[in-house]
Amino acid sequence: MRAACFVESGKPMEIMTVADPAPGPGEVLLRVKGCGICGSDLHVTELGGAVRRGTVMGHEFAGEIVAVGRGAKGPNGPWREGDRVCTMPGISCGSCLACLSGDVMGCPRLRVTGFGDIGGGYAEYAIGGERMTFRLPDCVASADGAMVEPLAVGLHAVDVAGLSTGEDVLVVGAGPVGLAVAVWAKILGARKVVVSDPAGHRRALAAKFGATDLIDPSREELLPAFERATGHAPRLAFECVGRPGVVQQIAQIAPRGAKILSAGMCMALDSYMPLVFGAKELTLQFCSYYRRQDYELTLAMLEAGRLDPLPMVTDRIGLDALPGAFERLRKPTTECKVIVEP
Ligand SMILES: [Zn+2]
Ligand SMILES: [Zn+2]
Repeated sequence: MRAACFVESGKPMEIMTVADPAPGPGEVLLRVKGCGICGSDLHVTELGGAVRRGTVMGHEFAGEIVAVGRGAKGPNGPWREGDRVCTMPGISCGSCLACLSGDVMGCPRLRVTGFGDIGGGYAEYAIGGERMTFRLPDCVASADGAMVEPLAVGLHAVDVAGLSTGEDVLVVGAGPVGLAVAVWAKILGARKVVVSDPAGHRRALAAKFGATDLIDPSREELLPAFERATGHAPRLAFECVGRPGVVQQIAQIAPRGAKILSAGMCMALDSYMPLVFGAKELTLQFCSYYRRQDYELTLAMLEAGRLDPLPMVTDRIGLDALPGAFERLRKPTTECKVIVEP
């Protein structure tokens, strides 16, 4: 099959012909119809040695099952060729406590897709695990199934944060993670969803993804702007930027007892002042991936027409265009989510 392979930091991926993946027992083989380009992919390729040469990246993908490994079955019976599905980017053991609770990405024996263990979706074919694979509703095109993953990230972040009904939230950063957090915060009962981002095109998107109020932090101070929208300081704030310093910025404006949920997955060392956290008894919490339940609710909401991720999709490209597009996304851009359709 043809696949975009990582070469080394500082060089674009290369399209190569590699062996077709073969589904093992309990696995399915997907013809990839769509795979989202994720900021994590961009960042991880900049960390020297984090990704091996030849790795096929891409962890936000969906497609059509073209081969079924021995015994691979979904919740409603065996998977079949032709099933349209999305899959979580990993294959778990299926028998540990994490797996049984639905926290399949927390399985200690997880093999991760798209970062080395298992080839990802920047290719014509990719493997999915039976427990990690989900049928797409009729109303979701196969390529658009790639959007389930980033939506589930946002849902999980809001869930982990323990959002209360009627709470006002601050979302700092309106990239795909911030947008997904904002839209779920709205659906799950937030009163005000105040989104801050210096880029106008990202604020415009946030307005379509649940934001009730928008802040341009290059023009106004975060705290007075949030107070103007809600009448108080932010007691629950989501860090969705992934750059050093943002957690501390939020801590400085947070009131006593506030919680900061860091979902930005910063890949550099960050620093903060414990005194600020201590004096205000702040909680700093992190989250990672999602659970099966997050995929199930995301898919149910898509099926019910209560969630539309497509405004996030700013471009669709073929596999050959991926290496160039990937490099362009390293620089400031007006793109939000780019979907590769191999
Ligand atoms: Zn991602
Ligand atoms: Zn397990």
